[in-house]
Amino acid sequence: MSGQGRRWFEQTKEFVGKVKAGASDDGPDLWTRCDGCGDTLFNDALDANHLVCPLCGHHFRIGVIGRLRLLCDEGTITLHDDLLHPVDALTFVDSKPYAKRIEQSRAKTGRNDAFVAISGDVAGIPCEVGAFDFTYMGGSMGSVVGEAITRLFERARERRVPAIVVSASGGARMQEGVLSLMQMAKTCAALAKLKDEGLPYISILTHPTTGGVAASFAMLGDVILAEPQALIGFAGPRVIQQTIGEELPDDFQTSEYLLDHGMVDAIVDRGDLKRTIAVLLAQLLGLSPVRPFGLKSVEGGLREDAAESLTKPPPPPRIVEPEPEPEPESTEPGPK
Ligand SMILES: [Zn+2]
Repeated sequence: MSGQGRRWFEQTKEFVGKVKAGASDDGPDLWTRCDGCGDTLFNDALDANHLVCPLCGHHFRIGVIGRLRLLCDEGTITLHDDLLHPVDALTFVDSKPYAKRIEQSRAKTGRNDAFVAISGDVAGIPCEVGAFDFTYMGGSMGSVVGEAITRLFERARERRVPAIVVSASGGARMQEGVLSLMQMAKTCAALAKLKDEGLPYISILTHPTTGGVAASFAMLGDVILAEPQALIGFAGPRVIQQTIGEELPDDFQTSEYLLDHGMVDAIVDRGDLKRTIAVLLAQLLGLSPVRPFGLKSVEGGLREDAAESLTKPPPPPRIVEPEPEPEPESTEPGPK
């Protein structure tokens, strides 16, 4: 293959790498079979739709950089803490040494650990934003991930801007033992300080958000959004079933199940996430109403009252005639 053909091949290979890590080496892979509807999708169409099946709405996994670009305005992103790297403090060995896993994950992802933290604007609102890289050891939270998230909350507090974290994690990183479990308390403590300052934190749960991440900051958002059909839970369904000895419903631990049970505030399609966050932040920060966004598919995933409050026009300003000051009769403070 040469000339234009070769260029086309190389570009296609690069693109497929984003969609499917396990694409075959036999040649260019132009199509992806949808896990949701089984239909065959043209990769370009899938890419243009943020890796969401245009036919059934199945959400494919999106890379961490693509995720952050989707949320933040172009040209506003500043990367933080990318030089923090994990150490094998316990010289832990399971099926292979932890040091080896770190090395392999770094080679595979080009990252030092499973979390990317940035400062960036969301629809013009400055924010501290972070997202998990699930391809780095299943997005597990060890000391570095915990530290990066803690610093994200601290930066948000210092800059007095909202925090946004997109979770996709298998939970605490067992290779770091108690050091990884400590990150649950540490991140939550930093988040509590952010909340003390009245600054909003939006948590976005994507497939899958489990274990120590689901059991800490991911479930503590002022607003918790989830992508459709995401697996969200602490322990796996098999463990729960064995513990309680009862059959679990089919949709157990999905975004939809959690929405029905009041654990998430809204299920939002990936393509609607940015404008939903922008509207929420404008409301939480008391900014002038953000009206340029159509909220078509957001409404479907929101509870009725929430959808109404997001889409109805802001109430007209109330003009209250000042009441005439009563003549002071007594210096005692009385009930108003
Ligand atoms: Zn589909």
